[in-house]
Amino acid sequence: MKTASTHRNLAIQRELLLVGGGHAHVAVIRHFGMKPVSGVRVTLLSRDVHTPYSGMLPGLVAGHYTHDECHIDLRRLCTANGVRLIHGTLEGLDITAQTVDVSGRGSLAWDLLSLNTGSSPALDAIPGAREHGCAVKPIDRFLSQWEEHERHIHSRAGPHRIVVVGGGAAAVEMALAIAWRLRQARPRAPDVSIALATAGQQLLEGHGDHVRRTIAAKLFESGIETHFSSRVAGATATHLELESGRHIECDFPVWAVHAGAPVWPREAGLACDAAGFVRVEQTLRSISHARVFAAGDIASLPEPVPKSGVHAVREGDSLARNLVRALEGNSLRPHRPQRQFLSLLATGDRYAVASRGAFHASGKWVWNWKNRIDRTFMAMYQPTALPAAVLAADEGMRCGGCAAKVDADTLASVLRAIAPGSRESVHHGIASAEDAAVIAPPPGQLLVQSVDYFRAFIDDPWLLGRIATVHALGDLHAMGATPHSALAIATVPHGAPRVVRETLTQLMLGARSALEAESLTLAGGHSSEGAELGFGLSVNGFVLPEALLLKSGIVPGHALVLTKALGTGVLFAANMAGAAAGNWIEDALSAMQQGHGTAVRILRHHGVSACTDVTGFGLLGHLGEMLRASGLGARLDMSAIPALPGARECLLAGYRSSLHAGNASALSSMESLDRLDQVTQALLVDPQTAGGLLAALPEARAQECVEELRNAGYAAAVIGFADGGLPPGKVSTG
Ligand SMILES: Cc1cc2nc3c(=O)[nH]c(=O)nc-3n(C[C@H](O)[C@H](O)[C@H](O)COP(=O)(O)OP(=O)(O)OC[C@H]3O[C@@H](n4cnc5c(N)ncnc54)[C@H](O)[C@@H]3O)c2cc1C
Repeated sequence: MKTASTHRNLAIQRELLLVGGGHAHVAVIRHFGMKPVSGVRVTLLSRDVHTPYSGMLPGLVAGHYTHDECHIDLRRLCTANGVRLIHGTLEGLDITAQTVDVSGRGSLAWDLLSLNTGSSPALDAIPGAREHGCAVKPIDRFLSQWEEHERHIHSRAGPHRIVVVGGGAAAVEMALAIAWRLRQARPRAPDVSIALATAGQQLLEGHGDHVRRTIAAKLFESGIETHFSSRVAGATATHLELESGRHIECDFPVWAVHAGAPVWPREAGLACDAAGFVRVEQTLRSISHARVFAAGDIASLPEPVPKSGVHAVREGDSLARNLVRALEGNSLRPHRPQRQFLSLLATGDRYAVASRGAFHASGKWVWNWKNRIDRTFMAMYQPTALPAAVLAADEGMRCGGCAAKVDADTLASVLRAIAPGSRESVHHGIASAEDAAVIAPPPGQLLVQSVDYFRAFIDDPWLLGRIATVHALGDLHAMGATPHSALAIATVPHGAPRVVRETLTQLMLGARSALEAESLTLAGGHSSEGAELGFGLSVNGFVLPEALLLKSGIVPGHALVLTKALGTGVLFAANMAGAAAGNWIEDALSAMQQGHGTAVRILRHHGVSACTDVTGFGLLGHLGEMLRASGLGARLDMSAIPALPGARECLLAGYRSSLHAGNASALSSMESLDRLDQVTQALLVDPQTAGGLLAALPEARAQECVEELRNAGYAAAVIGFADGGLPPGKVSTG
């Protein structure tokens, strides 16, 4: 890579890394959105993109709420508040190096770290607990395991016994919610009984007698049997083994025992309490490490508070204020937890019990009250989307940016971190530090080259590097070439040296992950600082002349196969406006990370005669190029054209990529355009990033080919046929 000194605008100087999108961090994200701290980049690393709100979980299980009603969409929240979201799981922490390890993608650096990763039931001390039944947290895993189990219950005859293990609010609410859900199920669940097993002599420690009596009556009414003084010591497929030596029959345990901590805080050297939770001062700062904060279940305060969403929510504001004070070098303020707080326990049947100290109340009205409180909380975390018209008018959302090179030290340390591989046929690559890469082409083969570059459509540099690489390699695959090597070009936002280094490292690691998947070498590149993040690659491949795939190779009657669903352009336009659901963006990102190597091998096996990759000009633009080059028209089956989840919804709402208008002229190639609805028209010209391959192959092979592609994970479809009877370039929907 070339090197030179830099002109620096120290825009981003420090990194605040929030790990876990829990109840406290959602408040921190809003706080930084409203009052950003100059020079600080805030990043959220979260295992889940939709984070559940604890108060509504039993209602979700009971069937009173949909998934979206009780989950905060972290992607939309982060987009609206200028916080970078990295979808990933922390697996380790290095406090000296100030990095966290993220599964599958290396490390992330931080200057200030805040932990809000919650807890999950402590199952390690109960042999068999992980193999049998499921834990109530993480809730998404619980729901999918529970739904699978529900199907199992309905598919078998004979009695079936579910035992919820635990005696706190979560256990009681979950048992009642499950009972309600099963009572409401149509067809009715066969002979199912539910029990609660608690180690204590009573349920709901810390609540008053009246609350316990009301709950006991509800449990009785729901047919839930309670086993007191029943500490579970092990689980098998047919029963629970109690510490006392007794057994309880059980086909499916639901684990709602006390909260357990992950191992990584202690392994990292953070001071932890006996259970492994991070010990914090009253200010929520780690007692052992001044640059680490923690809140919610993962934190252990000097005067312990119950592990509850209520406390985590309240800690959010104190945490946000103290993170700002720490960044600004001011003294921290103590967090004052509520001594008594209002508990609202749902009993499954839209009835609830309120309890606060000596106060108690119960009834349908309490459930309505709880429902209002919960929905008001959730409404605070539903960012308002920018209307489509405002987005379209915002020129600031279009391309821009200029560059100055990244300095030599930064570059050298990035290259050390990414350790690019070498290849015999690359005579001079990155390691040689020559002015250019020198490559020996295999005898008799043609060199195929392409270049692609784009500004960031997502603020996670690792994903940008990876997707830009898949995108660039698409051109080589479409030509039938075997990718060989690549040169990278990166633009990193101005910032302090270590921030620039971190961003560049993430970009290059992401690119390397996609290059390695196809055994490519990174032979060189160029990097610069600029106004905004951008990345691209020049890619080289080789192909035997007779194996070259050209756009002009379509044969009349050949089937047209598309290997990926459409919609990335509109989804990311809607995402910029905060209008795309987080799971739509996750699906689009997964599709964009799918390399084409396997697809092209399958297409070749089925006799592909022409190919292109569907990118900026949209399906119709790229199809038009192929048809004109082949002197043919095509008939498309509109119902077969695959769309990414949410793409049609975003088009219907009026969102369009900024390239859309330019692409729309391709619609003039359509016969009877007026028969097509606006959404389908827009989908046909939606620009794609790392889009699929569009290939022509014999009709007789098309279905089998598509099946193989689908088995390999591609959302492939036969979308139409080449037609020699139509004028060249003309597309009919017939
Ligand atoms: C069935 C049930 C009902 C409950 N009802 C109530 C109630 O009514 N009221 C109440 O106050 N409490 C309730 N609780 C307790 C409550 O759920 C927890 O106390 C609360 O969720 C803790 O919040 P938190 O902010 O600490 O973490 P969480 O809300 O658990 O959030 C943790 C976040 O961190 C992410 N994460 C976890 N590990 C990692 C990692 N390694 N890397 C990156 N990200 C990670 C997760 O994806 C998640 O986004 C209930 C619990 C259960 C199980």
